[in-house]
Amino acid sequence: MRRPLIIATLLVAAIFAVMMGGVSRLGAQAERDWKIATDVTQLQANVHRLSALEWQAVAEGKVSPAAHQDVAATLVSSRLMLVRLRGRSDSAALERFAVAFERYAGAVEHEFAFLELGRVDEAEQIDEELVDPAFALVTRASADSVAAHRAAARRSGATARTGSVVLGVLALALIIGLVARFHRTGRALAAARASERARRDGEEWLRGLLGNASDTVAVTDAAGRLTWVSETVEQLIGVPATEVVGTVFTEHMEDPEAAVHKLGAIAAAPGARDDLQVRLKRAGGRGVDVEARVTNLLDHPTVGGIVVNIRDVSDRTALEGRLRHQALHDPLTGLANRALFEDRLEHALASAGRAGRHPAVLFCDLDDFKTINDSLGHEAGDALLEELGRRLAATLRDADSVARLGGDEFAVLIEDAGDADDAVAVAERVLAAMAAPVQLRGRELAVHGSVGIAMSDDATDAQTLLRQADVAMYAAKSDGKGRFRLFEQRMHEAVMQRLELKADLSRAIDRGELFLAYQPIVAVDSSRLVGVEALLRWRHPARGVVAPDDFIPMAEESGLIVPIGRWVLQEATRQFARWKRERPHGAPGHISVNVAGAQLHDPGFTDDVASAIAHAGLLPGELILEVTESSLIDEDGSEASLAELRSLGTRLAIDDFGSGYSALNYLRRFPMDILKIDRSFVNGVTTVPRDAALTRAMIAMAAALGLDVVAEGVERDEPLCALQALHCGMAQGFLFSRPVSPGEVLGLIDAAGARADAA
Ligand code: C2E
Ligand code: CA
Ligand code: CA
Repeated sequence: MRRPLIIATLLVAAIFAVMMGGVSRLGAQAERDWKIATDVTQLQANVHRLSALEWQAVAEGKVSPAAHQDVAATLVSSRLMLVRLRGRSDSAALERFAVAFERYAGAVEHEFAFLELGRVDEAEQIDEELVDPAFALVTRASADSVAAHRAAARRSGATARTGSVVLGVLALALIIGLVARFHRTGRALAAARASERARRDGEEWLRGLLGNASDTVAVTDAAGRLTWVSETVEQLIGVPATEVVGTVFTEHMEDPEAAVHKLGAIAAAPGARDDLQVRLKRAGGRGVDVEARVTNLLDHPTVGGIVVNIRDVSDRTALEGRLRHQALHDPLTGLANRALFEDRLEHALASAGRAGRHPAVLFCDLDDFKTINDSLGHEAGDALLEELGRRLAATLRDADSVARLGGDEFAVLIEDAGDADDAVAVAERVLAAMAAPVQLRGRELAVHGSVGIAMSDDATDAQTLLRQADVAMYAAKSDGKGRFRLFEQRMHEAVMQRLELKADLSRAIDRGELFLAYQPIVAVDSSRLVGVEALLRWRHPARGVVAPDDFIPMAEESGLIVPIGRWVLQEATRQFARWKRERPHGAPGHISVNVAGAQLHDPGFTDDVASAIAHAGLLPGELILEVTESSLIDEDGSEASLAELRSLGTRLAIDDFGSGYSALNYLRRFPMDILKIDRSFVNGVTTVPRDAALTRAMIAMAAALGLDVVAEGVERDEPLCALQALHCGMAQGFLFSRPVSPGEVLGLIDAAGARADAA
């Protein structure tokens, strides 16, 4: 009797226990299903995030580094979650979702790869053909999976509730339930094994994926110890992943100090994310610059660590380095540029006071660089600047530095010039270095430079010191070239005056302050007046008459020479016509007008000349335009313009012949009528044998080319006799007349007429 009871009790107890167990297991199952549904919802959110990033990248046609990092991090955490989820459930809906997710992720990666290569069209095609359909699929699959798990959860919950109600009634059912439980236990065991297999497959799968990704992914614990790292780490730092795991992340950094701080802050705040720029040590080589995005996922149920996404940016850093170098250096000479020089100067000045040092600046400028550039070409000019840069660098002591400020301007920083003597010594060395002959285009040239020195005192800043050295350089230049000058305060005033003068010049035409003086040109054999040259003068209201050498360079710099030159042309032709009217017999045969380079390049110049001739009623051959070698700058432009002028019938003279570098070259290229031998040869024609020889050669050459010759600057009888002996056609100079007013020209015409009558 007992036995059956005991058996029954035991049975009932067993049934009860089994029922209880069943109910609670069903509850747990329901809970797990809910959790899985929630996780899938989270993954769904990740899919939408990826979709938003992908959409934006396609719209922009490129992938920003931030978006790249974001996508990589989202993919990694999603994949990790999926791996863990598949370990917990073998539901077909979840499986379908996992497959759909991977298909979508793969499509997005594919698309990003094309976008990063800049192949936007193909990326858009992938977007349409792969990404969009995969997205539709994955959203559907995720919804299905959520619904399936929720339904399963609801089902389990309901069963559990009914189970407890029918607990006492259906013992048999319970026994069947018990049997079923055995069954289910068997199934659960099989499922666990399957899920373990899936998990292992998933990890394998993840490792395969990350092993082929361009970024390296690592996971650390809260203390920064690496618990997992993708295999690409070996390509990055030359150490296999297996050896990296277990080490501390910061041990791999060349300079971990700043990173330690940042990493500590991230580790302390769940969910925190930050970027690091560090240099990782590399086995047996130079370190590698990386950018790391660090995300604290310690709280994350599946990741449970700090995820570090590492990207090799050494190419970018190298490019940045090159750009930085370019920004601070002159590409031609490789020397520091103005920005770097000013920076160094500021530093030198800042530390000078404390150390009792006196920095000084030398401002160096080539003399006549423009002429070299114009006559030998820009390549030769560049070669000269390079050579000069090398020489200057070689001249200096280690503590001093040299920079190219632009054009033919160089600057030297002397860290401590002591008293000015030291700076002067350096300036002398610099001048000597500049003056040593250079080989350019197969010829040896002697170029010179001018140097301005400015010494710092406690109050000077970099800009001021540089400006003072510049001002001193200008003073050195106007002293005659190839010299140096120390800055003095009054030089500043001279510069200011120059600036004022420039401003005054812009108003000179309108105020009628310009006028012309005329210098006769005579026949050498008879001293007969054959022509006049118009020479510009400026009657300045405060300074009196200013000579052209003092304001024409200024007018050339500012471009004012074009309207001024137009005025000269009109005034000179008008005056010439007036003489012809007033003295139909005896008036000079031509009027010479000087033309600056900028005028030749002015597109309206030929029209100006034509209209001046027409207005004055001149024969075109009565106008001679004088151009200097150095004004024939850009040869092609000048050539066209000179040809046009000649087709008008005006004559062309090459002025100051022999004083530039390429006189013969110009004669070969440009159609000239008259050659004006520079004053510097004519003066020495009886005293300096070389000048005599060169003058003779020039006259002979002009004769051979069918050009007329004017010898300029004849001041005494001796050169005139020599020129007569050399059969030079025309001459001009103080011996015959200084530049005079129009009325005085009339007087000269009359005097010549009277002499002729008397003869
Ligand atoms: P340039 O064309 O060579 O003109 C001759 C210069 O030599 C004139 O100086 C003249 O006064 C000076 N000169 C003439 N005979 C003698 C002499 O026997 N001995 C000495 N020592 N000098 C003599 P100026 O008038 O001061 O003109 C200087 C330069 O200014 C001219 O040199 C010319 O290049 C430029 N210039 C003058 N007027 C104009 C102009 O209207 N337009 C342009 N673009 N330049 C002009
Ligand atoms: Ca002239
Ligand atoms: Ca001349």
